[in-house]
Amino acid sequence: MEPSLLTTPRPLIAGNWKMNGLEASLDEARLLAAWVDAHSPAARVALCPPATLLNRMADLLAGSTIAVGGQDCRAEPRGAFTGDISAEMLTDAGAVLVILGHSERRVGHGETDALVAAKTTTAVGAGLEPIVCVGESLEQRRAGQASSVVTNQVLASLPGSIGDKPFAVAYEPVWAIGSGMTPSLDDIKEIHFAIRAALCVQLGAAGQLVPILYGGSVTAVNAGEILAAPGVGGALVGGASLTAKSFIGILEAL
Ligand code: PEP
Repeated sequence: MEPSLLTTPRPLIAGNWKMNGLEASLDEARLLAAWVDAHSPAARVALCPPATLLNRMADLLAGSTIAVGGQDCRAEPRGAFTGDISAEMLTDAGAVLVILGHSERRVGHGETDALVAAKTTTAVGAGLEPIVCVGESLEQRRAGQASSVVTNQVLASLPGSIGDKPFAVAYEPVWAIGSGMTPSLDDIKEIHFAIRAALCVQLGAAGQLVPILYGGSVTAVNAGEILAAPGVGGALVGGASLTAKSFIGILEAL
């Protein structure tokens, strides 16, 4: 089947709190839930807090449509891995999604595509919906390699066994994360098309239906045009997901 720039019927907007958030931050989730429940946005909404808040946030959001996700998991299902968290622990804490292969883990923790693929297999096996992140560095973009780098990451970071299990891919140019810089809409469209093509190579027709999110300095100001760009099936949001006000601004731009 020819790859197309299909967007998924219901975009996914997921907030990544990274290593931010204490008990008091749950008030932001509370405010967000009140808004989401009152406005029924056109997108699925998710929050991925630090592991310490997962259980409390899942309890807090139990009556809302907001899904809760983890930010990473170990590839092994259990064992002597001090400080790590397993996929099953995430589901036990109330998570239904998990971010995998974020560039802050690829760069800061030396995670390879093969490791991300192994984590994806484990996460899917535990019933989680992975959001698998890919993205080029600034040097790679300047060298004209963005499309090939991202394509290779997609092919190598997704296990063959993923089949028709629910998962998403997030295109997050490393240089756009937390920098206030974003690619042009044409560049976003080009890379999303390349990702769709790689997904179709890997998964056949099922590759047409995988949501492809954009991530990197999404705010209420640029969300409207980014989310309307061909092929964009949602957003992974870092800084602007930390307060209900800024996250709601993005949802209002849909
Ligand atoms: C991220 O870390 O996934 C991210 C997109 O961050 P930010 O929105 O802050 O650029």
